[in-house]
Amino acid sequence: MSILLLSLVVILAAIFSFRYAWWRPAVSSRVPRILMYHMIAPHRRGARFNGLRVPPAQFERQLAWLARNNWTSLTVSELLAAGDAPPQKSVVLTFDDGFADNLEHALPLLKKFNVKATLYLVVDRHERDWSTAKKAHHNSGELKNEAKLADDQVRLLLASGLVELGSHTLTHPNFLKLTEEEKLFELSESKNRLEKLFGVAVQSFAYPFGIYTPEDAKLVERCGYSSAVTTTPGLNLPGAVDRFQLKRVKISGKDNLLAFIMRMRGGRRGWKK
Ligand SMILES: [Zn+2]
Repeated sequence: MSILLLSLVVILAAIFSFRYAWWRPAVSSRVPRILMYHMIAPHRRGARFNGLRVPPAQFERQLAWLARNNWTSLTVSELLAAGDAPPQKSVVLTFDDGFADNLEHALPLLKKFNVKATLYLVVDRHERDWSTAKKAHHNSGELKNEAKLADDQVRLLLASGLVELGSHTLTHPNFLKLTEEEKLFELSESKNRLEKLFGVAVQSFAYPFGIYTPEDAKLVERCGYSSAVTTTPGLNLPGAVDRFQLKRVKISGKDNLLAFIMRMRGGRRGWKK
């Protein structure tokens, strides 16, 4: 083998290892996996947010893999109700924001594999460009133009018996820019409105953009929620579970099945992500 070929093999092996961190030991399957999704939709050419779009065929492969490997799906509230003794191989699917494709593309597959999910819905989600609340230059309107669930579509999701409803605030604000009073209003008013509108108990909350402080976690509890999810990547290890700061495993639309499996194994795909 020429030196050139050998160096190429070494470089490719290094890239593969960095990307998938295959040497890292798997975390025990007794530790629940909480997965974070946004859209189940085909990628749009040249779009900035394709990482948030898991194509339906890819989502189907992920659910088939979970079924083949005997993972049990629960909602967030079911997981917390199980306390210290959740089923072996517990997996929780969460969907943030309330995109219309959750009904069109995700629900048929959730039904096919009998998988449960928790939907974190923004109450005032139509015609709103919240991506700029995090970064002003994200003003392309890409997510604003993406169709959101109508209330009747949310009812169809809930009627499936597979979906728990959680709150993702009224307006998807950046909590760093709100007063405590404004935060309390977003927290309690969204809970009240969702409960009244859909006739279900809303027990779980998702921080917009995953931006919050430990003080905010106390406000969530004060408003009557029993849990909250963040966008902090990772697993919630026994003895270190904070039910108002739950970590999640981000499922990227840019991941292949191997990347998904690595994320299920250790909470992360590779060395850094
Ligand atoms: Zn969101």
